[in-house]
Amino acid sequence: MTDTIISRCEAHGLRMTGPRRTIARVLEESDDHPDVEELHARANAQDSGISLATVYRTVKLFEESGILERLEFGDGRARYEDADRDHHDHLIDLNTGEVIEFCDPEIEELQERIAKKLGYELRGHKLELYGVPIKKGS
Ligand SMILES: [Zn+2]
Repeated sequence: MTDTIISRCEAHGLRMTGPRRTIARVLEESDDHPDVEELHARANAQDSGISLATVYRTVKLFEESGILERLEFGDGRARYEDADRDHHDHLIDLNTGEVIEFCDPEIEELQERIAKKLGYELRGHKLELYGVPIKKGS
């Protein structure tokens, strides 16, 4: 990761109001995949005047500017992470909703090969695995 979210917002010409700065800072400090309600709770811990609607509008704006990536893990809740993070894929624990990040060179290579076989140069991919923990001793 290079620039902070705030500096990328400014580079995009976004007017950085107090609430937007707070939300950007919260996102900067998050290394998980919060949804809007979680972001609202974290932003409110720093500035109790920030409404849920403001958080909604702000993450939408950041997403449209390519600063945030929107993730959907099949439960209908949009989650967000910094679009500038290094590439990785996600495994979602269906019991707890926990999101585990991974990057596997074999999978990366396999996807390149499949795209090539289909006549394409790969520009990106999204991979989500859904699972439950394997019970020990079974
Ligand atoms: Zn992630």
